[in-house]
Amino acid sequence: EFLSNKIAAGEVVERPASIVKELVENSIDACSTQIHIEVEEGGLQKIRIVDNGDGIEGDDCLLAFHRHATSKIRTDKDLFRIKTLGFRGEALPSIASVSHLQLKTCTGMGVGTNVVVEGGKIVENSPSSSRKGTEITVTNLFYNTPARLKYLKTIHTELGNITDIVYRLALANPAISFRLDHNGKKVFLSNGNGDLKQVIAAIYGINIAKQMVYLEASSLDFKISGYVCKPEVTRATRQYMSTFINHRFIKNFPLTKAIQDGYHTLLPIGRYPIVVLQIEMDPLLIDVNVHPSKLEVRLSKEDELNKLVTETVKSTFKQVQL
Ligand code: ADP
Ligand code: MG
Repeated sequence: EFLSNKIAAGEVVERPASIVKELVENSIDACSTQIHIEVEEGGLQKIRIVDNGDGIEGDDCLLAFHRHATSKIRTDKDLFRIKTLGFRGEALPSIASVSHLQLKTCTGMGVGTNVVVEGGKIVENSPSSSRKGTEITVTNLFYNTPARLKYLKTIHTELGNITDIVYRLALANPAISFRLDHNGKKVFLSNGNGDLKQVIAAIYGINIAKQMVYLEASSLDFKISGYVCKPEVTRATRQYMSTFINHRFIKNFPLTKAIQDGYHTLLPIGRYPIVVLQIEMDPLLIDVNVHPSKLEVRLSKEDELNKLVTETVKSTFKQVQL
């Protein structure tokens, strides 16, 4: 099992940012309302995630380090109606197989659990504090996979990747407060009061946020909402179009094309708008089980969705110009 965990680690944990993503998604799945991410030296030195979520029962703690031990999928049917961000049960064992990992967790009832794993081997399992929530600390990342260590970029680049991930997670979850610290200094904070525009302001600045326009629409199968910038303030690259389905950041070319089509001739050639678009739909209409990274998705009724997006962007600007 050690070997297969390391192989899976290659797919799921490519770099510090992918570890942050997996761990924070676990915190979100555990219904946390506050998630604190502390990284040192671009995450190469240390990654620590502290949440105030449901925690893990003592008996389940060791299980969580076994591959495909997910608490989120119980039947085959569940696979087709995925509401949580995780479901493969790969992240924790994968991360633990290529690092030193400490897990402190408590459900808020009774005493908590403290587990230390080194290169996939459990070296400590003891009682711990009873603060409700989970704290995971990852050090010595990739110490036993030198090839992967070599592949990592500069601290600056790794921190950039981590920041991007945290931005996306914060945009996807305005009702959760995220805080990111690098080498003890605050990099990002969202207040978790549920207001998407305030998250946008925290990321892109207050001036951009002020110029963004709210949009909302629904059809039989889809509900969309979010913010689009006015055409004249677009200085962005393609990266600035963020699309989320059921609180999951996704990349889907036809969808971003549909947004751009909504701008029609308003958007100067070669320019991209800043857009944050939240889509809600029945999980049955979305297949996220395409790739371990879960970034790419397959959609049923894609045409209906894209048409709704284009039409809504278009009509939003018509109203603004009146
Ligand atoms: P998955 O998210 O696909 O279920 P993971 O390997 O990421 O698999 O996590 C394994 C299990 O550990 C999860 O199913 C969950 O039960 C538990 N877990 C991990 N992180 C947390 C957390 N921060 N809070 C509560 N439970 C957690
Ligand atoms: Mg997970």
